[in-house]
Parts: sequence; C-alpha cells; structure tokens
Amino acid sequence: MLIEAPETLAEPTYADDRIRCLVCRNRERSGECSAAASLGATRTYRPDEFLLRRCEAFLPRASEKDQRAARVRWPNLTRSADSISLPTQRSTKP
Ligand code: SF4
Repeated sequence: MLIEAPETLAEPTYADDRIRCLVCRNRERSGECSAAASLGATRTYRPDEFLLRRCEAFLPRASEKDQRAARVRWPNLTRSADSISLPTQRSTKP
C-alpha cells in the first residue's frame, strides 16, 4: 500500500506572485494581447489565459484587489534596451 509522505500534502510555504492573463487589462475579448508589440510578439498574440506567469506588460483589471502593475510587482523583470548588451559581431573578412 502506498502512503503519501506528509510533506507532499503540505501547502507551499512561499507566496506565488505569478498572475494569469485572465486578470490583465491588456487581454482583449478575443483573447489577444493588446500589449503584444511591447512584448516583441505578433499583433495576433493570444497567450494562454490560464498559464501562471510574470509578464512585463501586465496591468491588473479594475476588479483585482492588487492593483500593482508589472514594474512594481517584478522590478527585476524588465530591463531597458540600453542595459542589454548584445554580443559584438565578428568580422568574417580576413
Ligand atoms: S500583457 Fe502580459 S499578462 Fe497581460 S494579457 Fe498580455 S501577455 Fe497576458
């Protein structure tokens, strides 16, 4: 007989700060994301509405208790384009 260990039944001790697109103001009725361009996605980007995530364009719906936007919730999630260093391209010419 298989007996589950007590720790598998315990609630996690950490708070999960991820959100679902369902509670985001940028999610349109069609399911498309109106902030797709700022995320580098196509205009027709339709994210999974149930997937837990941290998204740099998240804006909570008015009905949400926690009204913090992405840059406040996850300050380390976003980086300005200036702070991103790209690898330099090597010349292929001799
Ligand atoms: S902005 Fe982010 S959280 Fe909001 S609908 Fe688009 S992908 Fe989802």
